[in-house]
Amino acid sequence: MSKNKKRIKIEINGIVQGVGFRPFIHALAHKYKITGFVSNTSQGVVIEAEGMQKALDDFLSYINHKPPSLVVLTQITNQSIPLQHDKTFTIRASALPSKTATLISPDISICNDCLQELFDPNNRRYLYPFINCTNCGPRYTIIDNIPYDRPYTSMRHFAMCITCQSEYDDPHNRRFHAQPNCCHDCGPQVTLYSRDRAELAIRNDAVDNTIRLLQTGHIVAIKGLGGFHLVVDAANEVAVKNLRLRKKREEKPLAVMVRDLESAKSICALTQEEESILSTPQCPIFLADKRQEDPLAPSIAPGCDQFGVMLPYTPLHHLLFQGACSALVMTSGNISEEPICTGNEEAFEQLVDIADFYLVHNRDIYLRNDDSIVMRLAGDSRLIRRARGYAPTPLFIQNRGPAVLGVGALLKNTICLLKDDKAYLSQHIGDLENLAAYGFFQKTIAHLKRIFAVEPDLIVHDLHPGYLSTRWAQDQKDIPLLGVQHHHAHLAACLAENRVSGPVIGLMMDGTGYGSDSTIWGGEILIGDFQTFERCGSFEPMPLPGGDAAIREPWRTALAYLYETFGYNLPHLPFLADHDINPILEMLSKDINSPKTSSCGRLFDAVAAMSGGKQVIRYEAQAAIEFMQTAGEVDGEPFSFEIIEQNSFFQLPIRPIVRSVVEALLAGQSPTIISQRFHRTLIDILTTAALHARARSGLRTVALSGGVFQNRLLFKGLLHSLAKDGFTVLTHSLVPTNDGCISLGQAMIGRYTMNG
Ligand code: ZN
Ligand code: ZN
Ligand code: FE
Repeated sequence: MSKNKKRIKIEINGIVQGVGFRPFIHALAHKYKITGFVSNTSQGVVIEAEGMQKALDDFLSYINHKPPSLVVLTQITNQSIPLQHDKTFTIRASALPSKTATLISPDISICNDCLQELFDPNNRRYLYPFINCTNCGPRYTIIDNIPYDRPYTSMRHFAMCITCQSEYDDPHNRRFHAQPNCCHDCGPQVTLYSRDRAELAIRNDAVDNTIRLLQTGHIVAIKGLGGFHLVVDAANEVAVKNLRLRKKREEKPLAVMVRDLESAKSICALTQEEESILSTPQCPIFLADKRQEDPLAPSIAPGCDQFGVMLPYTPLHHLLFQGACSALVMTSGNISEEPICTGNEEAFEQLVDIADFYLVHNRDIYLRNDDSIVMRLAGDSRLIRRARGYAPTPLFIQNRGPAVLGVGALLKNTICLLKDDKAYLSQHIGDLENLAAYGFFQKTIAHLKRIFAVEPDLIVHDLHPGYLSTRWAQDQKDIPLLGVQHHHAHLAACLAENRVSGPVIGLMMDGTGYGSDSTIWGGEILIGDFQTFERCGSFEPMPLPGGDAAIREPWRTALAYLYETFGYNLPHLPFLADHDINPILEMLSKDINSPKTSSCGRLFDAVAAMSGGKQVIRYEAQAAIEFMQTAGEVDGEPFSFEIIEQNSFFQLPIRPIVRSVVEALLAGQSPTIISQRFHRTLIDILTTAALHARARSGLRTVALSGGVFQNRLLFKGLLHSLAKDGFTVLTHSLVPTNDGCISLGQAMIGRYTMNG
């Protein structure tokens, strides 16, 4: 009988650690009467399986086709080896870390089994805020090193009690080798503190008290999975206003966590697809259309037709919803634009002027991770902030080569490490404009290098000499550097995510990117691939009086565009009366501190402000967002536009558009009509530009990238229009279309440059 037996060694790469893979293999071996062992390695998982040929075939096929839901298999190899005649199938302890790393799972929201136990009075983990199992719980944020084993996580400080240990050791248990496994007796605990750090309550008393505090309008800083949140009752207008005031966050929408899908539906209109995005295990913040009448405080998202909503994703969140509040504001626990706090001490110090109370716990967060943000657009869910639940899942790219690090741009910075055929895009780091964000940036680079065991052969940075990311790259010794143009990186990121090598036509529409000619670009028509690009057209450069000041105050941009079009014969538009325009005109006429930009984002600002829209913004792109909402749909005649070809460069002049907009305004057309026509104009001019680029190059594929494509009307309209003209259109969904994608594009260009 045993003569017909065979033994194979199976090596598996992918996300196979910390996701219940070994117990699954163990159970499967039992089912097919296979002996041998399974073990975690630094590369993934190795299995030696001994059994009948048919059983081995079925075993392999099952692994390939029906792995547990969080498992991602990237490579499976097997080879015959000599029989060992084991009696049983065992799970062996992990080998020591080697030079190559396995994939690490992102943090996953609480699973249904754990949720049921959480609210089962007979369960020993009843109401325990840190319940988890191999199918759910913290991962990326608690890992310090590889392989993913308890001693390399922040759970190392908690010795398992006998009961937890027996679950951990039992291959038939759902908590078999669940690294963060713990319970009331042996695991982390929550504590409630006052603002002056007096301990008020511990354990479930702390939770109960927090619920009461929230119900009575207090602001509580609550330590979560990837950092602190500032939390208030979302139905309490006074509390929400108070939070805004203390956080100095005037108008930017606040994210809301709702008790369940029903509560979500009471504030947002959700389609079935949208409901399923909201309930994915990643639990992102989803941008959903507000209902006409919703029960939430008006100050949560003033001037905005959408809410950012998410479902509870940790056991602690579920416990907080036991009280009367069915929606809680959950905004990042930070001061102004700095990274969210992760440590208890840090939170006590930094949030002291904001929070009334602190609900903290003693499980350390090793790496900060914000909530991810997803929007649904043109049939796809699209990440616009990629962080918790997604990072550090790699993107699989279509080539191999040297290890490359891309360090990203300025705003919405991420970093990206390429290793073999995987791109490890970091979580959202934020705007690299303060020291705290810069520290987080450096820490993330070191962390990703360590947990994925990779040392880059090349570092790629933006061309902007002043960015902290560029300076960091230039400070690294003994590693070759490459500077890559911002919009070329946008194009490459879009190609990489779509696994297309190009060349393609790129419509790169965003706010600001340093150009190859040292001017500010931002409305670019490129033709390119991973190696090179040609700038074959752009919007006409226009001045920005005061530079960044004009970005914060769109009325300045509007005035500049009018001045460029009409000179001192300014049309009598109402918005001009509200501002002291003479100093700005002086700057413009003397060309003082008025850098020129071809930015599409600024064109939006200018037209919005001259139509009476937002004159001064409180958060990025506010004027453009509100202007888009004013339109509601794309409609009406486009404004006059033309495309001028000069020395084989297509210029998209701004002045004819401005003149035409002013005519419509003076004729009394409403902001709604102006905005509808303006969106139509952009769709038409960009489609025409793509047709020009096609006529020249013969290319029929267009890549869209840049923050402007978060504009729902423009994006959908342009997609439709390009498709009608026979273009294949590549867009972003797995990585953000905004500057969160830059590091990926940079790294890919670096890889191709090195591969030659
Ligand atoms: Zn679970
Ligand atoms: Zn225990
Ligand atoms: Fe950009």
